[in-house]
Amino acid sequence: MSTGTSLLALQDIDLALARDRAELAAMPEIAELAKKRRAYQKLKSDATKLYAQRKDLETYLSELDQAESDANEDIAIAQRHTDTSDYRGVQQLEQELSRLAKLLDKIAYDRAEYTKQLEEIDSKQAYLDDYITKFESAVIADTKAARAKASDIQQRIDAGSAKRASIYDALSDDAKARYDAASQRFNGLAVERLVGNVPSVCRTALQESSMSDLAHAADICECPYCHRILVIEQEES
Ligand SMILES: [Zn+2]
Repeated sequence: MSTGTSLLALQDIDLALARDRAELAAMPEIAELAKKRRAYQKLKSDATKLYAQRKDLETYLSELDQAESDANEDIAIAQRHTDTSDYRGVQQLEQELSRLAKLLDKIAYDRAEYTKQLEEIDSKQAYLDDYITKFESAVIADTKAARAKASDIQQRIDAGSAKRASIYDALSDDAKARYDAASQRFNGLAVERLVGNVPSVCRTALQESSMSDLAHAADICECPYCHRILVIEQEES
């Protein structure tokens, strides 16, 4: 490959590499995934809150069971220890039984209330668990798709980098230095080729005098207008 042809090929690869690197960095799938992961964290924290509420209700219900069993035991004890021939004793028993009956009513009321809340939490948990399971598979599928897309781009970058290295390494030190400097100065668009008498990037037609100078030049020179590297004759590739 002539130096001019190599430089044009090098520039094409560098521009493609820059595009691929920018595309990889700005993949919308990556931002979308980050958003989904945040939503997933929120779902998981909702599930944890429901779980804690459920544990509390289960504790309340088992405390009620214990209170109920204590109250029933108190009733049995009170009945057993009362001397029914004694008027005061009977009166105290009635008061005690009435107190315990109210307590049992309160326990039954609370139990119904907590049981209702527990059922509500059950159905919320079932809905949320189902939603989280579907969300997880969606995130996994999206992650795979994003990885596949990223890996396609990464493979192009790897192949481009290897090709670039082989072309760049074969250049003379002078050509390397000229390309590096022009590439930096012109933001990647370092090289132009001559089409007829018009350079391909700045598109400023060369004068007769410049054209006759170029006839005696090497295969690359500097564009008199934009100062990019100008490839005069490009080989068929
Ligand atoms: Zn030019």
